[in-house]
Amino acid sequence: MRFIRTMTGDISPEQLGFTYAHEHIVCRPPYWLEKGQDDLILDDVNKSEKEVLLAKQAGVDTIVDATAIDYGRCPQDIYHIAVNTGMQIIGTAGFNKSFLWSAKIPGENKTFSDWIECADIQELTNFVIDEVEKGMQGTAIKAGQVKFGTGYNSISPLEIKTIRAVCRAHLMTGAPIHSHTEAGTMALHQIKYLKEEGVDLHHVSFGHMDRNPDTYYHCLIADTGAFLCFDGIAKIKYAPESTRINCILELAKRGYQKQILVSGDTARKSYYRSYTHALGLPYIKEEWCSRLEIEAEQNGLNGQALIEDIFINNPRECFEFKELR
Ligand SMILES: [Zn+2]
Repeated sequence: MRFIRTMTGDISPEQLGFTYAHEHIVCRPPYWLEKGQDDLILDDVNKSEKEVLLAKQAGVDTIVDATAIDYGRCPQDIYHIAVNTGMQIIGTAGFNKSFLWSAKIPGENKTFSDWIECADIQELTNFVIDEVEKGMQGTAIKAGQVKFGTGYNSISPLEIKTIRAVCRAHLMTGAPIHSHTEAGTMALHQIKYLKEEGVDLHHVSFGHMDRNPDTYYHCLIADTGAFLCFDGIAKIKYAPESTRINCILELAKRGYQKQILVSGDTARKSYYRSYTHALGLPYIKEEWCSRLEIEAEQNGLNGQALIEDIFINNPRECFEFKELR
């Protein structure tokens, strides 16, 4: 049976609809709490719910919440938001990146680093499998993707451990893999480990590709069959919108249209309409898509078909669980 796993239950790929592939809805990252970085804490459940409802009303059917446990994931809060708004939300198992792991695990007397260092790969693999098959953080709310991440131009030994554990959990559960790349770096190095673990790259999406707006690099990643997630829409502080759109159009022109995902990675209060009057979750669907469509047409592409692939057909393919043999 082909399926995609949302926090409120498994659905058929056809039910996925218009999808944002990498967002954050509620999160209380221990690392940023310790540093007193309030902008990075999304902790007002009512405001987050209001925003998700706005996105739903704008025509977004599914949001992937890319928050792993080490970034202060809140499965119960998000589950209630999904139920109250009717938004389909995909949860995330696994890990983020090692610089967050100096933080204390809430309610425990050790850090994430202590945990990952002391556990062997099999224990970490079992932990990730349980998040997909039993539930996250003691709940019955199951994750629909497994995640790992690496640092800026670096991969630490503990990150390698989590990459291997996440790959093995993917092979056991069929859950799709999502990768955090810091500022878009190291995807090709990550791929070496994924290949060593026997992962078919078509079940992997690489996040933050637009932070490294390098078409040559993007094509090398796309050649493996992987999905590329352009999730920094509206973040003009990193690059103007034209940079991200050009990267997407260049991939589409070269035949990789079926491997592109787009999202906003809204992990700050200052990205949310309901917290700070910012552009917010609805922006991509309400405004950004029409610009992409116009620029696609100017480049000789079918704009409507590109939008349908990026937001409907590609997520359907990317987030489907791999068939287990
Ligand atoms: Zn993110």
